[in-house]
Amino acid sequence: MIIIKSQEEIELMRKAGRVNVALFDGLKDYIKPGITTKDIDDFAEEICRSMGARAAEKGYGGFPASVCASVNDEIVHGIPSKDRVLQDGDIISVDFVAELGGYMADSCRTFAVGNISDTARHLMDTAEKAFFEGIKFAKEGYRLYDLSHRVQEVVEAEGFGVIRDYTGHGIGQEMHEDPAVPNYGRAGRGPRLQKGMTLAVEPMIVEKSYLTETLSNDWTVITRDGGLAAHYENTIAVTDGEADILTI
Ligand code: MG
Repeated sequence: MIIIKSQEEIELMRKAGRVNVALFDGLKDYIKPGITTKDIDDFAEEICRSMGARAAEKGYGGFPASVCASVNDEIVHGIPSKDRVLQDGDIISVDFVAELGGYMADSCRTFAVGNISDTARHLMDTAEKAFFEGIKFAKEGYRLYDLSHRVQEVVEAEGFGVIRDYTGHGIGQEMHEDPAVPNYGRAGRGPRLQKGMTLAVEPMIVEKSYLTETLSNDWTVITRDGGLAAHYENTIAVTDGEADILTI
């Protein structure tokens, strides 16, 4: 069941989203060669403390950290570690869910560590572009897979692939609500979008094959062929006009 939110609830989600904004603004300068993915987790903890928020990923399904930190060929659900030192040329996706006042906001950015390859930059830019192109269809009256289809179209036009095994999702008082929001699909299908639906739209894209595997820690998802992955996500509210982005 897709839960429709009141404007008041959407404002609470936007308030939670300010924590995401503060985190990613801070990380722009903080992420550099030599820091560890655990440092990023500590940074997020500190932002949460200072803003009175909770990092909702921590403990979710047993996840042990406050952010997911996925480096290079890691697609999602990377576990921050003091042993994972970022190197010049890496890319890292930081996925974070803030909970404030009972409402959630979910967003992700992929960051460059030092100087990265042209391919890595192209991949990151394409994930972001696919999000903004996709949400042009996050409007009352469209079908959900109109959005999904547009994301896939943009990514594949750049020669990259979209992940099939993981999708975006509804969000609100729960981190994961209906509907699933795939990054692929046939236009004209899926639930009819309505004002007040709140969705985490998150292109997860790869340099080569979209086939995935999960590491023995049962969390970290990597590309099977070792190709790079990038991830760009925001929480949005569907309106009868442009999508309302709650985590920017
Ligand atoms: Mg997320």
